Amino acid sequence: MTRIADLLAEGPTLSVEFFPPKTDEGIEKLSDTIDELEKLSCPAVPADRLSFVSITYGAGGSTRDRTRDLVVRVNERRPFPAMPHLTCMGHTRAEIDDLLADYAANGVHNVLALAGDPPADGSPVTGDFTYATELIEAIRAAGDFSVGVAAHPELHPRSPDRAHDRRYLAEKLNAADFGITQFFFDADDYFSMVEDLADRGCETPVLPGVMPLLNPTTARRFAGIAGATFPEELAARVEAAEDPAQRMAIAADAAAELSAELLERGVPGLHIYCMNRSDVVEALLGRLTTG
Ligand code: FAD
Repeated sequence: MTRIADLLAEGPTLSVEFFPPKTDEGIEKLSDTIDELEKLSCPAVPADRLSFVSITYGAGGSTRDRTRDLVVRVNERRPFPAMPHLTCMGHTRAEIDDLLADYAANGVHNVLALAGDPPADGSPVTGDFTYATELIEAIRAAGDFSVGVAAHPELHPRSPDRAHDRRYLAEKLNAADFGITQFFFDADDYFSMVEDLADRGCETPVLPGVMPLLNPTTARRFAGIAGATFPEELAARVEAAEDPAQRMAIAADAAAELSAELLERGVPGLHIYCMNRSDVVEALLGRLTTG
């Protein structure tokens, strides 16, 4: 099983994020999507082909089995690793230990360690964990995993100020092997976070998360939750598109422009939020390849 830390050590990586579908039919469709992605090549990224995929985890464990089954299935059948996301808020230590033991027994050696979010209805947080850093400790104790964490270039919405955010982000990254950012639309947000981290002596690689803005309504909601600036001008152009092909072209052009700038300024890889669609990844990478 390939460790993502080793892939990053070899050079810029290419990765894609999926969410676990709710139905068997959805799983089959995602398998076709992954087939398509497996065929893609992108000479603009040194990895050229897909380096790894990651699979999200529903808040409080709502997709626990679906995330787990999908990760194990991809790992068994594909030439690249699948990394499960894992949120700790609301879980007991025993629940987390059981899941990690199961992952280790099934050849999963990469985990994205996340805090998750408190209940939306304001009820108190239950369980044995508050912060992602505590989950990193549990993962390290459970086995030889390569551990990733989340980073928020424009600050985490629960951070009271920049110094607080960067202090805990640097501590977390120093305990992990790599980071992946929330999506952003201005490369300067990413590079100023990297500078802040370097000022604190943190050099852990952080993959920039790029989201092609194919569905502005959903992305606007996610950006609101994550405290990320939303590009209203780009969204207006996507929403005004005459047909799906034009919509795709506008979203892919913008994502490719951002990705090209990130690669040119030196990032450890690209992590694409594809909303389970291969066509958007293909459109983005196609534009990168042809310049
Ligand atoms: P933490 O790193 O724990 O930070 C949360 C807040 O606590 C920050 O403000 C931080 O500054 C502060 N903090 C940290 N440690 C301390 C401390 N010791 N004392 C005081 N304050 C502290 N959510 C899901 O539910 N499922 C997913 O699959 C998922 N995948 C994601 C993937 C990526 C790449 C990203 C960027 C986010 C993802 N999320 C996911 C969202 C994530 O769970 C939320 O952003 C959550 O609110 C915070 O998670 P975190 O791991 O960044 O938290």
